[in-house]
Amino acid sequence: MDCNGSDARHRILILGGGFSAIYAARRLERTLARDAKVEITLVNRDNYFLFTPMLHEVAGGELETHCIVNPIRKLLRRVRFFCGEVQSIDLPGKRVTVTHGKSAHPHELEYDQLVLALGSTTNFFGLAGVEERAFAMKTLDDAIRLRDHLIAQLDEADFDCASDSRDWLLTFVVAGGGFAGVETAGSINDFIHESLRFYPHLKREMIRVVLVSSGSVILPELREKRSVRTTQARSTRHRGLDRRTSPTSHRPVHRAQRRPPHRVQYADLDCRELCSSIARAFGVQKATRPNRRQSFL
Ligand SMILES: Cc1cc2nc3c(=O)[nH]c(=O)nc-3n(C[C@H](O)[C@H](O)[C@H](O)COP(=O)(O)OP(=O)(O)OC[C@H]3O[C@@H](n4cnc5c(N)ncnc54)[C@H](O)[C@@H]3O)c2cc1C
Repeated sequence: MDCNGSDARHRILILGGGFSAIYAARRLERTLARDAKVEITLVNRDNYFLFTPMLHEVAGGELETHCIVNPIRKLLRRVRFFCGEVQSIDLPGKRVTVTHGKSAHPHELEYDQLVLALGSTTNFFGLAGVEERAFAMKTLDDAIRLRDHLIAQLDEADFDCASDSRDWLLTFVVAGGGFAGVETAGSINDFIHESLRFYPHLKREMIRVVLVSSGSVILPELREKRSVRTTQARSTRHRGLDRRTSPTSHRPVHRAQRRPPHRVQYADLDCRELCSSIARAFGVQKATRPNRRQSFL
Protein backbone atom coordinates (compact mmCIF):
# COMPACT_ATOMS: atom_id res chain seq x y z
CA MET A 1 0.00 0.00 0.00
CA ASP A 2 1.27 3.52 -0.67
CA CYS A 3 0.61 6.61 1.53
CA ASN A 4 -2.80 7.11 -0.17
CA GLY A 5 -3.89 3.65 0.89
CA SER A 6 -3.84 2.20 -2.62
CA ASP A 7 -1.88 -0.83 -3.69
CA ALA A 8 0.96 0.67 -5.71
CA ARG A 9 2.45 -2.60 -6.85
CA HIS A 10 2.83 -3.12 -10.57
CA ARG A 11 0.81 -6.24 -11.41
CA ILE A 12 1.91 -8.50 -14.22
CA LEU A 13 -0.52 -11.26 -15.09
CA ILE A 14 0.59 -14.22 -17.19
CA LEU A 15 -2.14 -16.42 -18.70
CA GLY A 16 -1.12 -19.97 -19.62
CA GLY A 17 1.29 -22.61 -18.35
CA GLY A 18 2.91 -23.95 -21.51
CA PHE A 19 6.39 -23.25 -22.86
CA SER A 20 5.66 -19.57 -23.58
CA ALA A 21 4.13 -18.73 -20.21
CA ILE A 22 6.59 -20.69 -18.09
CA TYR A 23 9.65 -19.28 -19.84
CA ALA A 24 8.24 -15.75 -19.60
CA ALA A 25 7.56 -16.29 -15.88
CA ARG A 26 11.00 -17.72 -15.22
CA ARG A 27 12.61 -14.80 -17.01
CA LEU A 28 10.55 -12.33 -15.00
CA GLU A 29 11.45 -14.19 -11.82
CA ARG A 30 15.11 -13.59 -12.53
CA THR A 31 14.70 -9.95 -13.51
CA LEU A 32 11.74 -8.42 -11.66
CA ALA A 33 10.21 -10.71 -9.08
CA ARG A 34 12.54 -9.69 -6.23
CA ASP A 35 11.28 -6.12 -6.57
CA ALA A 36 8.66 -5.59 -3.83
CA LYS A 37 6.83 -3.15 -6.09
CA VAL A 38 6.17 -5.83 -8.69
CA GLU A 39 3.64 -8.63 -8.30
CA ILE A 40 3.67 -11.40 -10.88
CA THR A 41 0.84 -13.93 -11.11
CA LEU A 42 0.52 -16.86 -13.48
CA VAL A 43 -2.85 -18.50 -14.22
CA ASN A 44 -3.15 -21.96 -15.73
CA ARG A 45 -5.92 -24.56 -15.76
CA ASP A 46 -3.52 -27.33 -14.79
CA ASN A 47 -1.12 -27.17 -11.86
CA TYR A 48 1.69 -28.60 -13.97
CA PHE A 49 3.77 -27.82 -17.02
CA LEU A 50 3.51 -30.50 -19.71
CA PHE A 51 6.54 -31.40 -21.85
CA THR A 52 4.63 -32.05 -25.08
CA PRO A 53 7.57 -33.34 -27.18
CA MET A 54 7.45 -36.56 -25.14
CA LEU A 55 3.67 -36.91 -24.99
CA HIS A 56 3.64 -39.71 -27.54
CA GLU A 57 5.83 -41.76 -25.22
CA VAL A 58 3.07 -41.71 -22.61
CA ALA A 59 0.57 -42.78 -25.27
CA GLY A 60 2.94 -45.59 -26.24
CA GLY A 61 3.44 -46.70 -22.64
CA GLU A 62 7.19 -45.95 -22.72
CA LEU A 63 6.96 -43.29 -20.02
CA GLU A 64 4.80 -42.74 -16.98
CA THR A 65 2.83 -39.50 -16.83
CA HIS A 66 4.94 -37.99 -14.04
CA CYS A 67 8.03 -38.17 -16.27
CA ILE A 68 6.74 -35.44 -18.60
CA VAL A 69 5.12 -33.05 -16.15
CA ASN A 70 6.59 -30.56 -13.74
CA PRO A 71 4.49 -28.95 -10.99
CA ILE A 72 4.28 -25.21 -11.66
CA ARG A 73 4.59 -24.40 -7.94
CA LYS A 74 7.99 -26.09 -7.94
CA LEU A 75 9.11 -24.39 -11.15
CA LEU A 76 8.19 -20.88 -9.99
CA ARG A 77 9.20 -19.73 -6.51
CA ARG A 78 8.54 -16.00 -6.66
CA VAL A 79 5.64 -15.89 -9.07
CA ARG A 80 2.19 -16.37 -7.54
CA PHE A 81 0.31 -19.25 -9.09
CA PHE A 82 -3.44 -19.35 -9.58
CA CYS A 83 -4.78 -22.71 -10.76
CA GLY A 84 -7.95 -21.85 -12.62
CA GLU A 85 -9.74 -21.47 -15.89
CA VAL A 86 -9.58 -18.17 -17.74
CA GLN A 87 -13.14 -17.26 -18.70
CA SER A 88 -12.87 -13.76 -20.10
CA ILE A 89 -10.52 -10.83 -20.51
CA ASP A 90 -11.67 -7.26 -20.14
CA LEU A 91 -8.93 -5.36 -21.97
CA PRO A 92 -10.19 -1.80 -21.38
CA GLY A 93 -10.88 -2.59 -17.70
CA LYS A 94 -7.55 -4.48 -17.35
CA ARG A 95 -9.23 -7.36 -15.61
CA VAL A 96 -9.42 -11.12 -16.17
CA THR A 97 -12.19 -13.39 -14.91
CA VAL A 98 -10.95 -16.75 -13.71
CA THR A 99 -12.98 -19.64 -12.27
CA HIS A 100 -11.68 -22.37 -10.02
CA GLY A 101 -12.64 -25.03 -7.51
CA LYS A 102 -15.36 -27.67 -7.74
CA SER A 103 -18.01 -24.97 -7.78
CA ALA A 104 -16.13 -23.10 -10.55
CA HIS A 105 -16.73 -19.83 -8.75
CA PRO A 106 -15.33 -16.70 -10.39
CA HIS A 107 -12.50 -14.38 -9.35
CA GLU A 108 -11.50 -11.11 -10.93
CA LEU A 109 -7.79 -10.56 -11.32
CA GLU A 110 -6.69 -7.03 -12.11
CA TYR A 111 -3.47 -6.30 -13.93
CA ASP A 112 -1.28 -3.53 -15.22
CA GLN A 113 0.42 -5.69 -17.82
CA LEU A 114 -0.89 -8.87 -19.39
CA VAL A 115 1.08 -11.73 -20.96
CA LEU A 116 -1.22 -13.83 -23.14
CA ALA A 117 0.12 -17.35 -23.66
CA LEU A 118 -2.94 -19.58 -23.79
CA GLY A 119 -1.57 -21.61 -26.68
CA SER A 120 -3.78 -23.31 -29.19
CA THR A 121 -6.34 -26.08 -29.47
CA THR A 122 -6.53 -28.94 -31.93
CA ASN A 123 -7.85 -27.87 -35.33
CA PHE A 124 -10.11 -30.50 -36.87
CA PHE A 125 -10.48 -28.51 -40.12
CA GLY A 126 -14.21 -29.25 -40.04
CA LEU A 127 -13.61 -32.82 -41.21
CA ALA A 128 -16.78 -34.82 -40.88
CA GLY A 129 -16.88 -37.07 -37.85
CA VAL A 130 -13.27 -36.54 -36.89
CA GLU A 131 -13.68 -34.20 -33.95
CA GLU A 132 -16.18 -36.51 -32.21
CA ARG A 133 -14.42 -39.77 -32.96
CA ALA A 134 -10.70 -39.19 -33.35
CA PHE A 135 -8.20 -39.13 -30.52
CA ALA A 136 -6.44 -35.79 -30.25
CA MET A 137 -2.78 -35.66 -29.15
CA LYS A 138 -2.30 -32.49 -27.22
CA THR A 139 -2.91 -32.96 -23.53
CA LEU A 140 -1.86 -35.51 -20.94
CA ASP A 141 -5.42 -36.83 -20.87
CA ASP A 142 -5.33 -37.32 -24.64
CA ALA A 143 -2.21 -39.49 -24.32
CA ILE A 144 -3.66 -41.55 -21.46
CA ARG A 145 -6.92 -42.02 -23.35
CA LEU A 146 -5.06 -43.24 -26.43
CA ARG A 147 -2.90 -45.68 -24.41
CA ASP A 148 -6.01 -47.09 -22.67
CA HIS A 149 -7.70 -47.45 -26.02
CA LEU A 150 -4.76 -49.38 -27.53
CA ILE A 151 -4.81 -51.83 -24.62
CA ALA A 152 -8.59 -52.22 -24.92
CA GLN A 153 -8.28 -53.02 -28.64
CA LEU A 154 -5.65 -55.70 -27.99
CA ASP A 155 -7.78 -57.22 -25.21
CA GLU A 156 -10.84 -57.29 -27.44
CA ALA A 157 -9.03 -58.63 -30.51
CA ASP A 158 -7.49 -61.50 -28.55
CA PHE A 159 -10.83 -63.21 -27.90
CA ASP A 160 -11.77 -66.12 -30.20
CA CYS A 161 -15.06 -64.42 -31.03
CA ALA A 162 -13.13 -61.44 -32.47
CA SER A 163 -11.56 -63.39 -35.33
CA ASP A 164 -13.84 -61.71 -37.90
CA SER A 165 -13.26 -58.21 -36.63
CA ARG A 166 -9.50 -58.37 -36.00
CA ASP A 167 -8.76 -56.65 -39.30
CA TRP A 168 -10.28 -53.40 -38.19
CA LEU A 169 -9.73 -53.85 -34.45
CA LEU A 170 -6.00 -53.92 -35.12
CA THR A 171 -5.88 -51.16 -37.74
CA PHE A 172 -4.83 -47.80 -36.34
CA VAL A 173 -4.81 -44.66 -38.46
CA VAL A 174 -2.73 -41.64 -37.47
CA ALA A 175 -3.54 -38.44 -39.33
CA GLY A 176 -0.72 -35.93 -39.70
CA GLY A 177 2.74 -36.37 -41.16
CA GLY A 178 4.49 -33.81 -38.97
CA PHE A 179 6.53 -34.52 -35.85
CA ALA A 180 3.56 -35.23 -33.60
CA GLY A 181 1.95 -37.60 -36.14
CA VAL A 182 5.11 -39.49 -37.02
CA GLU A 183 6.12 -39.88 -33.40
CA THR A 184 2.63 -40.92 -32.36
CA ALA A 185 2.42 -43.50 -35.15
CA GLY A 186 5.86 -44.83 -34.17
CA SER A 187 4.88 -45.11 -30.52
CA ILE A 188 1.60 -46.86 -31.31
CA ASN A 189 3.41 -49.25 -33.61
CA ASP A 190 6.11 -50.10 -31.06
CA PHE A 191 3.62 -50.41 -28.22
CA ILE A 192 1.32 -52.77 -30.11
CA HIS A 193 4.15 -54.95 -31.40
CA GLU A 194 5.88 -55.17 -28.03
CA SER A 195 2.59 -56.12 -26.36
CA LEU A 196 1.85 -59.00 -28.74
CA ARG A 197 3.70 -61.55 -26.60
CA PHE A 198 0.95 -61.19 -23.98
CA TYR A 199 -1.82 -61.95 -26.48
CA PRO A 200 -1.65 -65.56 -27.69
CA HIS A 201 -4.16 -65.16 -30.54
CA LEU A 202 -2.56 -62.10 -32.11
CA LYS A 203 0.22 -62.11 -34.71
CA ARG A 204 2.44 -59.38 -36.13
CA GLU A 205 0.85 -59.61 -39.58
CA MET A 206 -2.57 -58.74 -38.11
CA ILE A 207 -1.39 -55.29 -37.02
CA ARG A 208 -1.70 -52.28 -39.27
CA VAL A 209 -0.62 -48.79 -38.31
CA VAL A 210 -1.28 -46.28 -41.08
CA LEU A 211 0.29 -42.84 -41.13
CA VAL A 212 -1.66 -40.42 -43.31
CA SER A 213 -0.22 -37.12 -44.42
CA SER A 214 -1.65 -34.47 -46.72
CA GLY A 215 1.61 -33.64 -48.47
CA SER A 216 3.92 -35.73 -50.60
CA VAL A 217 6.48 -35.93 -47.79
CA ILE A 218 6.35 -36.64 -44.12
CA LEU A 219 8.13 -34.42 -41.59
CA PRO A 220 7.85 -31.20 -43.61
CA GLU A 221 9.38 -29.44 -40.58
CA LEU A 222 12.71 -30.86 -41.73
CA ARG A 223 12.44 -29.10 -45.08
CA GLU A 224 16.01 -27.85 -44.84
CA LYS A 225 17.42 -31.16 -43.73
CA ARG A 226 16.52 -33.62 -46.45
CA SER A 227 18.92 -36.30 -45.28
CA VAL A 228 17.40 -36.39 -41.80
CA ARG A 229 13.92 -36.47 -43.29
CA THR A 230 14.81 -39.33 -45.63
CA THR A 231 16.32 -41.29 -42.75
CA GLN A 232 13.21 -40.77 -40.65
CA ALA A 233 10.98 -41.80 -43.54
CA ARG A 234 13.01 -44.96 -44.12
CA SER A 235 12.87 -45.73 -40.46
CA THR A 236 9.05 -45.56 -40.43
CA ARG A 237 8.99 -48.12 -43.26
CA HIS A 238 11.44 -50.41 -41.51
CA ARG A 239 9.28 -50.34 -38.42
CA GLY A 240 6.40 -51.68 -40.49
CA LEU A 241 4.37 -48.50 -40.67
CA ASP A 242 2.05 -48.10 -43.62
CA ARG A 243 2.30 -44.58 -45.06
CA ARG A 244 -0.30 -42.84 -47.16
CA THR A 245 0.32 -39.45 -48.61
CA SER A 246 -2.18 -37.52 -50.57
CA PRO A 247 -0.14 -35.05 -52.65
CA THR A 248 -2.74 -32.57 -53.80
CA SER A 249 -5.01 -32.52 -50.81
CA HIS A 250 -4.91 -30.89 -47.44
CA ARG A 251 -7.78 -33.04 -46.23
CA PRO A 252 -6.22 -36.38 -45.49
CA VAL A 253 -8.91 -37.98 -43.39
CA HIS A 254 -12.30 -37.40 -44.81
CA ARG A 255 -14.91 -39.18 -42.81
CA ALA A 256 -15.22 -41.24 -39.67
CA GLN A 257 -18.30 -43.27 -38.84
CA ARG A 258 -20.15 -42.94 -35.52
CA ARG A 259 -19.05 -46.25 -33.98
CA PRO A 260 -16.03 -48.45 -34.62
CA PRO A 261 -15.19 -49.72 -37.07
CA HIS A 262 -14.57 -46.20 -38.37
CA ARG A 263 -14.54 -45.87 -42.12
CA VAL A 264 -11.78 -43.52 -43.17
CA GLN A 265 -11.74 -42.13 -46.65
CA TYR A 266 -8.72 -40.35 -48.08
CA ALA A 267 -9.60 -37.29 -50.09
CA ASP A 268 -7.48 -38.00 -53.16
CA LEU A 269 -7.07 -41.72 -53.02
CA ASP A 270 -9.62 -44.21 -54.23
CA CYS A 271 -9.34 -46.08 -50.98
CA ARG A 272 -11.29 -46.60 -47.81
CA GLU A 273 -10.10 -48.04 -44.60
CA LEU A 274 -11.84 -49.73 -41.71
CA CYS A 275 -10.08 -49.10 -38.44
CA SER A 276 -10.64 -49.13 -34.72
CA SER A 277 -9.20 -45.72 -34.06
CA ILE A 278 -7.93 -42.54 -35.58
CA ALA A 279 -5.31 -40.51 -33.74
CA ARG A 280 -5.28 -36.99 -35.00
CA ALA A 281 -2.08 -35.00 -34.96
CA PHE A 282 -2.37 -32.18 -37.46
CA GLY A 283 -2.89 -28.47 -37.13
CA VAL A 284 -3.81 -26.17 -34.28
CA GLN A 285 -6.12 -23.23 -33.84
CA LYS A 286 -6.32 -20.49 -31.26
CA ALA A 287 -7.19 -21.51 -27.74
CA THR A 288 -10.80 -21.58 -26.67
CA ARG A 289 -12.20 -23.12 -23.51
CA PRO A 290 -11.49 -25.86 -21.01
CA ASN A 291 -11.81 -29.59 -20.98
CA ARG A 292 -10.21 -31.74 -18.31
CA ARG A 293 -8.18 -31.89 -15.06
CA GLN A 294 -5.23 -33.87 -13.68
CA SER A 295 -3.12 -32.66 -10.77
CA PHE A 296 0.51 -33.12 -9.80
CA LEU A 297 2.58 -32.03 -6.86
C1 LIG B 1 2.36 -34.13 -29.30
C2 LIG B 1 3.14 -32.87 -29.51
C3 LIG B 1 4.50 -32.95 -29.78
C4 LIG B 1 5.23 -31.77 -29.99
N1 LIG B 1 6.56 -31.88 -30.24
C5 LIG B 1 7.28 -30.75 -30.41
C6 LIG B 1 8.68 -30.81 -30.64
O1 LIG B 1 9.27 -31.90 -30.66
N2 LIG B 1 9.36 -29.65 -30.82
C7 LIG B 1 8.73 -28.43 -30.79
O2 LIG B 1 9.38 -27.40 -30.95
N3 LIG B 1 7.40 -28.35 -30.57
C8 LIG B 1 6.67 -29.46 -30.39
N4 LIG B 1 5.33 -29.37 -30.18
C9 LIG B 1 4.69 -28.04 -30.21
C10 LIG B 1 4.83 -27.36 -28.86
O3 LIG B 1 4.27 -28.18 -27.85
C11 LIG B 1 4.06 -26.05 -28.92
O4 LIG B 1 4.64 -25.25 -29.91
C12 LIG B 1 4.14 -25.34 -27.61
O5 LIG B 1 3.57 -26.14 -26.61
C13 LIG B 1 3.41 -24.00 -27.67
O6 LIG B 1 3.56 -23.43 -26.39
P1 LIG B 1 2.50 -22.40 -25.83
O7 LIG B 1 2.96 -22.03 -24.46
O8 LIG B 1 2.31 -21.30 -26.81
O9 LIG B 1 1.12 -23.18 -25.77
P2 LIG B 1 0.70 -24.46 -24.96
O10 LIG B 1 1.84 -25.36 -24.71
O11 LIG B 1 -0.51 -25.00 -25.67
O12 LIG B 1 0.25 -23.89 -23.54
C14 LIG B 1 -0.95 -23.20 -23.34
C15 LIG B 1 -1.30 -23.33 -21.87
O13 LIG B 1 -2.43 -22.52 -21.59
C16 LIG B 1 -3.36 -23.28 -20.83
N5 LIG B 1 -4.69 -22.77 -21.13
C17 LIG B 1 -5.30 -22.70 -22.32
N6 LIG B 1 -6.52 -22.16 -22.20
C18 LIG B 1 -6.67 -21.89 -20.88
C19 LIG B 1 -7.74 -21.31 -20.13
N7 LIG B 1 -8.89 -20.90 -20.70
N8 LIG B 1 -7.58 -21.16 -18.80
C20 LIG B 1 -6.43 -21.57 -18.17
N9 LIG B 1 -5.39 -22.12 -18.85
C21 LIG B 1 -5.52 -22.28 -20.18
C22 LIG B 1 -3.15 -24.70 -21.27
O14 LIG B 1 -3.61 -25.61 -20.29
C23 LIG B 1 -1.64 -24.74 -21.45
O15 LIG B 1 -0.99 -25.04 -20.23
C24 LIG B 1 4.58 -30.51 -29.96
C25 LIG B 1 3.21 -30.44 -29.68
C26 LIG B 1 2.50 -31.61 -29.46
C27 LIG B 1 1.03 -31.50 -29.14
